[in-house]
Amino acid sequence: MIIKIVTSDRIEQFFASLDATWEVRVPIMLPDGTRTISSRSSGPLALHGGAVAGKPTAAFFPQHGTIFTAVGSGFQEPAAPTRPLFILGFTPRDLACLRFIDRFFADGFSDDLYLRLRKNAVVAGISGNCGLGGTLLPPAGGDCDLEFFWEGSGWLVIPHSSAGEACVSGLPDSAPPEAVERYRQAAMTPPHENDRLVRRASELLRSTSVPDSFWAEIGDRCIACTGCNLACPTCTCFGVQDWRSATQTERSRMWDSCQLDGFMREAGGHNPLGSEAERTRRRIHHKLAADPEKWGEISCFVCGRCDSACPTGIGIVAVARELVARFG
Ligand code: SF4
Ligand code: SF4
Repeated sequence: MIIKIVTSDRIEQFFASLDATWEVRVPIMLPDGTRTISSRSSGPLALHGGAVAGKPTAAFFPQHGTIFTAVGSGFQEPAAPTRPLFILGFTPRDLACLRFIDRFFADGFSDDLYLRLRKNAVVAGISGNCGLGGTLLPPAGGDCDLEFFWEGSGWLVIPHSSAGEACVSGLPDSAPPEAVERYRQAAMTPPHENDRLVRRASELLRSTSVPDSFWAEIGDRCIACTGCNLACPTCTCFGVQDWRSATQTERSRMWDSCQLDGFMREAGGHNPLGSEAERTRRRIHHKLAADPEKWGEISCFVCGRCDSACPTGIGIVAVARELVARFG
């Protein structure tokens, strides 16, 4: 395995060397002190601090995306990106989310809006002792083209694909053996307690009948702010709308939220998810019971965003904790 090392004072230079080939996006600091993934010119580099607040998969599935524009009797599809994306800032959990939605958007009907942005993109993960407050993000070891692992004095840069190898070919220094050993040790970190909780909740939902009263109690806490869905890197639901002006019509898609009353309301007025209890049950059930049956894996990778976003404390880990505490 090739493992290079780049020190903090040379990392900007490394990203600048990629500019000619890729549209480079990296974690940056916004004026309000939060971090996001954007172009280097948008703010100072902020590689430390763990997961960014917004969902990183928005790079390929944006909140609003034009499907086509109709002018007169002609149709225009959105232009393909001029350069492929090089995007850094996915934590190992975010990379697992991306792996999941890559499967989702390519299955059966392949989603050309998603694939147009995703194809040829170089995805770089970030791991090591660079989580919130310096906590360890155990290495992904894959699920990306390139991994940046903070080992205390510099970034180990580990390619996991030929595109990743092409990115690091200009880096002069190979990582010293002791730094590589720190990477290997970190890769053996046992699963977090929250992973165990979510797995157990999934087993319970698939094997036990959880009473409606539980979902009524949990759903009663939902204020339908949609924060959980908007933050979740594996939420893929969207609605389609036409925006008309005097000269053209733009058909676009926008993220939707299964916590909203109108999410499944039918044209005749019937709503199969007519209460907050049913909608909350569906949100949790979808990730922990329906997706394992359809895709063979739970579609929550415990990134923590919905638990951070939910103002009333019913993110997925919080609900999993209550499920396990009450039903075993
Ligand atoms: S923790 Fe919440 S936001 Fe993150 S993947 Fe799971 S359901 Fe989605
Ligand atoms: S974040 Fe919480 S309150 Fe807001 S829609 Fe989701 S579950 Fe409901």
